[in-house]
Amino acid sequence: MKDDSPDLEQEAVVTGEGYFGLCPECGKTDGYVSVGCDHWFICEAHRTRWPIGANLFSSYLYETEEEQRQICERLGFFEFREVEPIYPSKKS
Ligand SMILES: [Zn+2]
Repeated sequence: MKDDSPDLEQEAVVTGEGYFGLCPECGKTDGYVSVGCDHWFICEAHRTRWPIGANLFSSYLYETEEEQRQICERLGFFEFREVEPIYPSKKS
């Protein structure tokens, strides 16, 4: 019996295509972190970050503030540079 495996990486595809913006230095992103209910996309290589809004993803519901702070501190998130992301999908 043939099995058409469903696309389980839809979210990764969406973020990889720049739906939420991409690092202006390299055109990539390493995903997002949540601070409270705010979400930031980041590029670890260039230590850049850009805000994408609040309450977009449900993951923050499962993270405690302590866990969020640990993630941010491990990444050095609070020292990242806030940048204007690029949106390749909006190219005219
Ligand atoms: Zn980058």
